[in-house]
Amino acid sequence: MLLKKKDLITKDYDVVVVGSGLAGLTAANKLARNGRSVLLLESHNKLGGFATWFKRAKGDHIFDVSLHGFPVGMIKTCRKYWSREIADKIIQVKDVRFINPQYEIQTDFTKEDFTKKLVEEFKVSQESVMAFFDALETMNFYDDQEMTNGELFEKFFPNRPDVTRFLLEPIVYANGSTLEDPAITYGIVFSNFMSKGVYIFQGGTDLLIDMMKEELLSNGVDIKYHSLVEEIIIEDGETKGVVVNGQKVVSKSVLSNANLISTILNMAGEEYFPKEYIEKAKAVKLNTSSCQVFMGIKKGESIPRIGELVFYSDDAKFSSQLILSPNVGSQTFSVYYPEIRPQRPDRYAVVSSSNARYEDWKDLSDEEYKKQKDFVIERALATLEKLIPGVREKIDFVDCSTPLTVEKYTHHKKGASFGTKFEGLDLSMNMHKEVKGLFHSGSVGIIMSGWLGAANYGVIQSHQVETFLDGAQE
Ligand SMILES: Cc1cc2nc3c(=O)[nH]c(=O)nc-3n(C[C@H](O)[C@H](O)[C@H](O)COP(=O)(O)OP(=O)(O)OC[C@H]3O[C@@H](n4cnc5c(N)ncnc54)[C@H](O)[C@@H]3O)c2cc1C
Repeated sequence: MLLKKKDLITKDYDVVVVGSGLAGLTAANKLARNGRSVLLLESHNKLGGFATWFKRAKGDHIFDVSLHGFPVGMIKTCRKYWSREIADKIIQVKDVRFINPQYEIQTDFTKEDFTKKLVEEFKVSQESVMAFFDALETMNFYDDQEMTNGELFEKFFPNRPDVTRFLLEPIVYANGSTLEDPAITYGIVFSNFMSKGVYIFQGGTDLLIDMMKEELLSNGVDIKYHSLVEEIIIEDGETKGVVVNGQKVVSKSVLSNANLISTILNMAGEEYFPKEYIEKAKAVKLNTSSCQVFMGIKKGESIPRIGELVFYSDDAKFSSQLILSPNVGSQTFSVYYPEIRPQRPDRYAVVSSSNARYEDWKDLSDEEYKKQKDFVIERALATLEKLIPGVREKIDFVDCSTPLTVEKYTHHKKGASFGTKFEGLDLSMNMHKEVKGLFHSGSVGIIMSGWLGAANYGVIQSHQVETFLDGAQE
């Protein structure tokens, strides 16, 4: 049932899910399908978390925020834990381009094509490429986590910054990885993407989330928007429910899809966890944030095909630190041609994304903030103009989101786009060992981030909740 803003919550639940990102949504659906009573509380006025969209100019323009590409595994996950109808709308992004001073490459982002490009265009030996992919495919996160991305590339492609750029740059966009992060985070994400290319949801994020909402309601999940959970109630080391908008809701367990650190320190409270766990929580590093420029093409206008995902850079060399700075000459264009939203024929939109550091935005005065936003918008327009001469005249809406926008809408500290760095995973997975009945799921550790990582992590944690509930009933 979809509860209204003014409705009081009168029932007790097996599980309260806090937050409706893809992890929270998928966990809620799985739990409800298995007969658990589930309440899904979302602070915003719609479901989806980062998997979101917005309309402008009275609905004339519609933009997707994080629908740029995800791994093929999303088809299986949606079929298994959502519905065949949802899974059937996932289609491949076939035209991915890299344009920078070191190379111009068009690819479908599959392992086969990447191998071909590395051998034929970068002149790397077939053996080195095979050895590299073999090493990635055998990685799992129980392995040695000492090796960094930088060391991984140096091992297989010594003194080849161009190869490093080709292999790492898209993943930096995908999850904020740097050369200093553990190679395992790169390996798992890259081999996921590389197996069969990059995929997208046809119909747009609004359609996906709408279909998920219907599925949740038909499985009996109670959903309430405008519900910012203030507190997770813990008594005698056990979770008893939550406080939302001043109201107490009783539940046997709580699965938080909110930011990991806020869950531990703000919503639960450090006094309920052992000292060591809190020390580790305070040391968890957040991932970086992002800026996006949303450009809407006038009704009746069209743009030529320049690729669906274009990794563009004016920077002579790749540096994962430069890529985070406001001076970066690097951005990714997602081009939404009409076939992405068949329900809106003949409409085009372009979204430019660049990684960004919260620190570079947080202390700006209103005037400086506006100036910096204008700079990012102008950079996107000027670059797009190089790819599509005359495009400025065709654009009748443009706006820019910053790390502060991300923070405002998702309550993620510092606007972290991909949750926490690697060390967050351990804390998230083991939260229920510290406080009975309290679980966490959502973007952590890079591996459990992105659309597929978050959805799959929701499934993993829903198993943990069920094991607890079954134990609790004995
Ligand atoms: C700009 C950008 C581009 C991206 N592009 C891609 C991409 O192309 N492909 C890809 O795979 N991934 C992409 N991602 C990452 C991906 O979108 C996220 O990793 C994933 O959607 C996160 O899901 P989550 O389950 O962790 O929850 P989140 O999306 O973080 O959602 C958490 C939800 O919890 C709610 N919440 C928080 N606190 C409370 C509270 N106290 N009470 C109630 N509700 C609360 C929030 O409002 C939010 O709805 C992108 C992210 C960003 C920011």
